[in-house]
Amino acid sequence: MVWVGIDDTDTYDKGCTTYVMYNMLKEFIKTRSEERVVGYPRLIRLNPNIPFKTRGNAAVSVGLNVDDIREAVELAEWAVNAYSSRVGKTSPGIVVSTTNSEHWIYWKAISDVIPIDVALRWMRRLGVVHRGGRGVIGALASVMADLSTDSTFELLAYGESTPKPNIPTGIVETLDSSTAPLTFENIGDGYTLIQPHGNDPVVFGVRGDSPYHLLHFATVLTSEVDVEPRWLIYLTNQATEHHMKHIANKPYTPGYIEGNVGSVTVISGGNLEIKASSGVVFSYRHYGFKRLDKATYLLAYGGLRPGPKDLDLYMEGGVALLGKVDVNNPKCPRCGGNLESTGRVGLLRCTRCGLVTGVPRLLGYVGEVILEEPRGSEVRHLHKPLGRVSLEGLANVFNRPSLWIV
Ligand code: ATP
Repeated sequence: MVWVGIDDTDTYDKGCTTYVMYNMLKEFIKTRSEERVVGYPRLIRLNPNIPFKTRGNAAVSVGLNVDDIREAVELAEWAVNAYSSRVGKTSPGIVVSTTNSEHWIYWKAISDVIPIDVALRWMRRLGVVHRGGRGVIGALASVMADLSTDSTFELLAYGESTPKPNIPTGIVETLDSSTAPLTFENIGDGYTLIQPHGNDPVVFGVRGDSPYHLLHFATVLTSEVDVEPRWLIYLTNQATEHHMKHIANKPYTPGYIEGNVGSVTVISGGNLEIKASSGVVFSYRHYGFKRLDKATYLLAYGGLRPGPKDLDLYMEGGVALLGKVDVNNPKCPRCGGNLESTGRVGLLRCTRCGLVTGVPRLLGYVGEVILEEPRGSEVRHLHKPLGRVSLEGLANVFNRPSLWIV
């Protein structure tokens, strides 16, 4: 039994590493057998703040029963050569390992930056076979992924026709309401989120906690929209918030900033710069966190990048305390009438009986705690939607359904 990992096979506008895996598995099943594929293939999202990712920093892996490790290496090389799009900075990598339990590598790759020479040293020590370039880092981390406590599924449907088939929002809304909360992130801000708009082979992708609900979604959708049913169900770390488990506090890693808010300034493009006691937070306008300009205390999470003085946080969500102090005049201590300002500090005059008094003003604190969730269309792959809270670990109970690959 070996674990095969693949990464970095696509460019901004072409290809998809998951499609390389799909074709590799189709070939493996055709020439060997389906029983030799161990469990689900895995789609693993890594550090979302890595500067050299193409889109979502995804890497894929799968367990295969082979007679000889060379069989797996040759098969992966064939799939990468046949289905990757090598342009510009694309640097495909393949790893083949006899172990997948070095989970520390996964935890490091999801929350830190791993230099290539360090990854090569680990592989030498672990006896992991590797081929290709920088993609070996992600490929190795995908093999070592720890999905024991929480994971989700994604069904990815493929097609090569251009333009992609149009998926009407109405059908997605109907399927969403009949499968939620066991599928999620299908619709956001009134738009369909299941269809990527790039020049890649993914026709749609549905995410959820139950593979059977994904299958229901996909079978209805492919028949209604006239799409050839060709898909693969992946086990993933999407929507698990795994990237926030270990904070490295380094540039280009996930992190938090928490503290009293000193100032909130609208900067170019309508984005916000928030100076908090423990650092500077930037909130991009498109995330829609409009109410932060009244924040008095903030706990924000997002990606850390080097700033002029320290690490700045580019906020993806958080919790804010919106506080303000209301100042009101008390009632007249003699007749109960309304008091108004005399224009002199500390002195108020009664509008009814004319008493001038030095009674203090009333200070009232008005506070509101708000949860700042990214908009549907801005949600990042590892972000855990509120609807998933308490579903953690559910994926572990589902055996692989027979239509996991078609
Ligand atoms: P897509 O989501 O479309 O598959 P991508 O965003 O995954 O694309 P890649 O093309 O896979 O982008 O490029 C990411 C590169 O970053 C890969 O070469 C991978 O090995 C590397 N990488 C991933 N995580 C880390 C990490 N934590 N440290 C260093 N390198 C990493």
